[in-house]
Amino acid sequence: MAIQMVDLHGQYLKIKSEIDAAMQEVIDSTQFINGYKVREFARNLEQYLNVKHVIPCANGTDALQVAMMALDLKPGDEVIVPCFTYVATAEVIALLGLNPVMVDVHPDTFQVDISEAAKKLTTKTKAIVPVHLFGQCADMDAVMAFAKEHGLFVIEDTAQAIGAVYTNESGEKVSAGCIGDIGTTSFFPSKNLGCFGDGGAIFTNDDELAAKIRMVCNHGQSKKYHHRTVGVNSRLDTLQAAILDIKLKHLDEYCASRQAVAAKYDSAFASHPDLTIPHRDEKSTHVFHQYTLKLSDSVNREDMRNYLSEHGIPSMVYYPLPLNKQEAYSSKDQFPVTEDLCSRVLSLPICTELSEEQTDTIIEHVKTYLDNK
Ligand SMILES: *Cc1c(COP(=O)(O)O)cnc(C)c1O
Repeated sequence: MAIQMVDLHGQYLKIKSEIDAAMQEVIDSTQFINGYKVREFARNLEQYLNVKHVIPCANGTDALQVAMMALDLKPGDEVIVPCFTYVATAEVIALLGLNPVMVDVHPDTFQVDISEAAKKLTTKTKAIVPVHLFGQCADMDAVMAFAKEHGLFVIEDTAQAIGAVYTNESGEKVSAGCIGDIGTTSFFPSKNLGCFGDGGAIFTNDDELAAKIRMVCNHGQSKKYHHRTVGVNSRLDTLQAAILDIKLKHLDEYCASRQAVAAKYDSAFASHPDLTIPHRDEKSTHVFHQYTLKLSDSVNREDMRNYLSEHGIPSMVYYPLPLNKQEAYSSKDQFPVTEDLCSRVLSLPICTELSEEQTDTIIEHVKTYLDNK
């Protein structure tokens, strides 16, 4: 088997009969929109995350947009986002006429740096979006304390970290996405809990916010044909919900297999002078959506990627260009940590189907390249 960044087919084959039967059931019911499986999956995910409300929607970008809309933010309001993230985080903010205010991240954890956020506060700052990048939680104790002090909403972008668990300063274990006012996630096929198309969800423990979120997702409708606010049409297909409901039962096992690969990489690379392995935060588990190394100055990343590719090993750069260097979001501010990270990060294959043998092959080629460069 060729090594892949993500092996969706292999993952499907292991649960094929269950998935096929569930899909057939939905097809036979022809309840393609808002079928009972959508509610059942939402209830099961609420239980898994230990959160009061899971509201499914069409994708992770919509989840972020609906979250912003439900908070009644006004044009010109500022929302703090890390500069080192996927574009969707900032995109929805700009789309709603709000201002995404970028802040730099911690060089070790890749997560939003609250001391940097503090420098960007203005009277218009209304919310902050910590992104649990690569599968480990941001420093949520710091985020929550900062938000409380300055009266900000917290929207956790959990697209890469579903299943991660954060131990807060009171010693409570809370699921990623269920700490702030609202959490959002994506069920894009390659995410840790992925469906067979697009999907997303929004989490909250606040009943009033949950009602607002449901209304925004459904054309701003409080009851049929009565539109209280401007909304959107954002739903999770019943077929996707049926698939996700099955995969949810395997999520812990999926996390464990990613963690096993990560542990193997860690022990192989920890003492290598050219590599810095992912930092493990003691407050958060890491579900390794990505396994991201930092390369030393003496490594030519493109050359290394070419070498690995010639030996059948894919690799990716998440992300090559920081938000502030994107044409649509360009900024004159300086983000030295993010810019440095963008120049030296490299993500290796990590997925639920990666065998020990494949992991060994990857390790061997990484080391061979570095020792002969
Ligand atoms: C994938 C992702 C999203 C967007 O999810 P979609 O379902 O593709 O819209 C948002 N934020 C982050 C951090 C992501 O990784």
